[in-house]
Amino acid sequence: MARTALPGGLVTGLWQRARLVERRPETATAVTLVFRPENWPGHLAGQHADIRLTADDGYTAVRSFSMAAPVRDGLVEFTVQRVNDGEVSTYLCDDLPVGADVELKGPIGGWFIWRETETRPVLLVAGGSGIVPLQAMIRQRRESGSDVPFRLIYSVRTSADIIYRDELRDAADGVETTILYTRTAPAGSGRPPARISLADLKEHGWTPGFDPACFICGPTGFVETAAKALVAMGHNSHRIKTERFG
Ligand SMILES: Cc1cc2nc3c(=O)[nH]c(=O)nc-3n(C[C@H](O)[C@H](O)[C@H](O)COP(=O)(O)OP(=O)(O)OC[C@H]3O[C@@H](n4cnc5c(N)ncnc54)[C@H](O)[C@@H]3O)c2cc1C
Repeated sequence: MARTALPGGLVTGLWQRARLVERRPETATAVTLVFRPENWPGHLAGQHADIRLTADDGYTAVRSFSMAAPVRDGLVEFTVQRVNDGEVSTYLCDDLPVGADVELKGPIGGWFIWRETETRPVLLVAGGSGIVPLQAMIRQRRESGSDVPFRLIYSVRTSADIIYRDELRDAADGVETTILYTRTAPAGSGRPPARISLADLKEHGWTPGFDPACFICGPTGFVETAAKALVAMGHNSHRIKTERFG
């Protein structure tokens, strides 16, 4: 039975067609895809949608992707990281042409969301493509004129893997951003390449005394490590929200 789509609701039941209107490369392996859905109900920062692809022989594949930005002029943006040998991400990154249709279902998710009416400081912790829903929160904050303090800690393999690089470099919006490198760090970065650690979160996050809202997103191992470290630091576990992409 079809259910009504409501922003902030847990799940919606309707598939709708959406036309790809723009492809924007972000890195060598990640692309932003801008769709015009037939009738998008709106969404909140942090929510995701299901994208369904259907082949000529009727075979279908469905994967979840986070909305990367607020709705603008009826357009909905996703950023897809190409996963080697991945069925859907490779097609979306390499093959889906502008003008083609996919099906969308959403918005989905009522937990991993940030609203501009919230006043608590925010800590965002991203691993790889886990930046996508967190960038949606940063964009929502900017577009709403919120001055809630935001800190972002973003772990990438190398500098070539930074999605939204130029936008993140623009410190004018007041989001304090720290990039951590796991494979190769640029000269002068002062930190040898390594996976995220308790020390990184202590150095670049908020102290528990600020009682921030914490959002962690990325591969499962990354999310678990970061969440455990925040709890070990003394952060309130009820304020730590996680989303796993792996
Ligand atoms: C709520 C949610 C939101 C998501 N949002 C985004 C998003 O905004 N952008 C984005 O790029 N992806 C996002 N993902 C991941 C996405 O749904 C797919 O899992 C991913 O694109 C891989 O799909 P695939 O069909 O290419 O790979 P598959 O054919 O399903 O898998 C191929 C191989 O890759 C491995 N694999 C699957 N997913 C990943 C991954 N994420 N990283 C590394 N290896 C993987 C599998 O174990 C398998 O071995 C999200 C996932 C969830 C659950």
